[in-house]
Amino acid sequence: MKTCLITGAAGFIGSHLSERLLAEGYAVRGVDSLTDYYAREQKLANISGCSQNRRFEWIEADLNAIDLAPLFDGVHLVFHLAGQPGVRASWGTSFAPYVRNNVEATQRLLEAARLTPIECFVYASSSSVYGRVTTAMNEEGPTRPYSPYGVTKLAGEHLCLLYARNFGLPACAVRYFTVFGPRQRPDMAFASFFRAMGDDHSIKVLGDGTQTRDFTYVEDAVAGSYAAALRATPGEVYNLGGGSQVSLKDAIATIERVCGRRVRIEYAPAEDGDVFSTLADTTKARAHLGYRPRVDLERGLWHHAESYGFTRTRKRPARGAGATTARRVALYSHDTFGLGHLRRNLAIAEHLLQGEHPFEVLLLSGSPLIADWPKPKDLRVVALPPVVKIGSEQYVPRDVTQSFAQLKARREQLIRDAIVGFAPDVFLVDHAPAGMRGELLGALSYLRRKMPGTRTVIGLRDVIDGASAVQAAWRDDGIYDLLEWAYDRILVYGLRDFYPVEREYAFGPNLRNKLRYCGYIARAATAPRARRAGSTFTVLVTTGGGGDGFNLVNDYLRASLQIQAPRAQSKIVVGPLMEASQRRALESAAANRPDVTLCMQAGELVDELCAADFVVAMGGYNTSAEIVANRVPAVLVPRHTPRVEQLLRARILNSLGLVWIVEPHENVAMALEAHLRTALAGAKPHALGAYPFDADGARRVSEHLDALLADQPVAGVVAS
Ligand code: NAD
Repeated sequence: MKTCLITGAAGFIGSHLSERLLAEGYAVRGVDSLTDYYAREQKLANISGCSQNRRFEWIEADLNAIDLAPLFDGVHLVFHLAGQPGVRASWGTSFAPYVRNNVEATQRLLEAARLTPIECFVYASSSSVYGRVTTAMNEEGPTRPYSPYGVTKLAGEHLCLLYARNFGLPACAVRYFTVFGPRQRPDMAFASFFRAMGDDHSIKVLGDGTQTRDFTYVEDAVAGSYAAALRATPGEVYNLGGGSQVSLKDAIATIERVCGRRVRIEYAPAEDGDVFSTLADTTKARAHLGYRPRVDLERGLWHHAESYGFTRTRKRPARGAGATTARRVALYSHDTFGLGHLRRNLAIAEHLLQGEHPFEVLLLSGSPLIADWPKPKDLRVVALPPVVKIGSEQYVPRDVTQSFAQLKARREQLIRDAIVGFAPDVFLVDHAPAGMRGELLGALSYLRRKMPGTRTVIGLRDVIDGASAVQAAWRDDGIYDLLEWAYDRILVYGLRDFYPVEREYAFGPNLRNKLRYCGYIARAATAPRARRAGSTFTVLVTTGGGGDGFNLVNDYLRASLQIQAPRAQSKIVVGPLMEASQRRALESAAANRPDVTLCMQAGELVDELCAADFVVAMGGYNTSAEIVANRVPAVLVPRHTPRVEQLLRARILNSLGLVWIVEPHENVAMALEAHLRTALAGAKPHALGAYPFDADGARRVSEHLDALLADQPVAGVVAS
């Protein structure tokens, strides 16, 4: 895991950047002196979300007052956002903190940075370095600051670039253009407008309102800064603008539209240092960093207004012609046991991100593996603190210092914050309609009351458990009612021919109307399956997450020992969730077996599965679907307690001639030996290859969401 150092982490942009990098799986060391430029409480509130994350280390310190070397301990990426902002306050005697915090602090930080092996140093510069320019501001153009603030930001920028030139420090600068969004500094225009509106005062505009700005939504500024850390050339400068030039008057009209109310404007003379217009030429950032501002002014203001709790009668703005804002899907995956939910949600996320009409996707996952598991590049992730399942619907926190009640409250808060902050067009819940122990009920009710434009969808595996057990549990837990009031659509990741959910789970007419089948969600191999004549017969043994895979692997080791000639070459992949003591026992059992390789699963297995001659697996959803979809001969040894889900699935597939099965009453080692011998003799499940198995579920999920949104194009908050 890489570590990022973020200075100014409790500030407006720094706190968003910290959240983004935590979501990307980094450890974040946030430093901030909480200067008195605005309230310390507001800054602490800015980082309250990060502080809950164990990968976040908080250091309250002034960069001018401490030994900076320890800050760089183990650090890979540096983002220097600490600074004294504000154009108007930078005149007269107030200039001193600008020099101290923008110039001296930067120089001290660079001195410490040059002695460490960091990968990048991104400096937060400003459009103020350009001064009064009437055309689009280009990095090659002149820099003639018009305020003392601009002078100090330009000095900081020059310092960074000269450390790059002299010492090879991988430093670059990004120039932000009037950043806005939730948590914006209170001295900035939109924040002061929303505050005034909240107090029912008129808003104060300096100048006649015709001045223009290139407003940049904070998530775009953050995305550009992150891209700079990954892709910038040392010594270079990049403009990160929002891509449109809007007058303050027009921005106010947009606020009125977004909030559904008129505002009173009081005009005051423009102040010294204010430039008349800013507009970023972002060609360089687009070409070199892959920077793409995604949130236009109207949509960004919608989020910003929402953070002030304004209730609206208007829905969130749709993408206008030429606007780049994508529709948003939040996926919830409780991930209380195994790998299955995570893998299925990632397969869905990939399609949503890459489809013909791509979505922005946020995944809320409780998997302990979420930080390290391979994920699509553009996927955003909120990691929920994980639990360990100790019985049917019984969980304990993985972090033993917390009570279950604390953990659940924290997860509920994270879910709620993510939904409000991300404002999804669709909330797609995996498998558990009420979430882990009902943790979604608050969020679902909020969505219905406050954000009725957000479509809510539950995605179900076809087989969940025995039908009567599911019906009884759903009746007891109020799930039928929940599906009625909280969900717009029920997607089934399966086929009606295999398992007619509406009949098995006794759906009434309303639920039947909401139901859509998607087919199975199964990954295809990235390379075609090729078998070379005469090559060794290979067996892949997989137990999914591996939490309860020990017995199967043990039985397989015994079974394969009985096969003398020809011997199969076996690759046993133990899941990442298998207990360490069990894994060690298996490793020693396999130690003197040249015909066996034992390894830990760290990513998708589908290519290995497809390359195998024979697969031994349990009956989990993803692996079973991949086996059948990719037509790989296999025997399933399904789990049959505490739920019969895997057993039912394996029996259905077996009855269709698509897999072999080891039934619960059989001796597993002996049955496996028999199946292995049959497979070695060249036999396969009889209908494998002949059955038209529909495994295009992930694409169809995307299509169903498209169709759902076509009825109701955008999400929004309504008046309470
Ligand atoms: P902010 O004031 O919210 O955040 C800056 C943070 O830096 C503050 O929390 C402050 O306490 C901290 N800080 C200041 N001096 C420090 C020191 N010596 N040691 C440790 N911490 C210190 O401002 P912001 O709007 O988030 O801006 C972040 C950076 O981006 C600043 O450098 C600013 O100049 C630059 N910038 C911002 C914008 C914008 O539109 N917000 C535009 C251009 C450039």
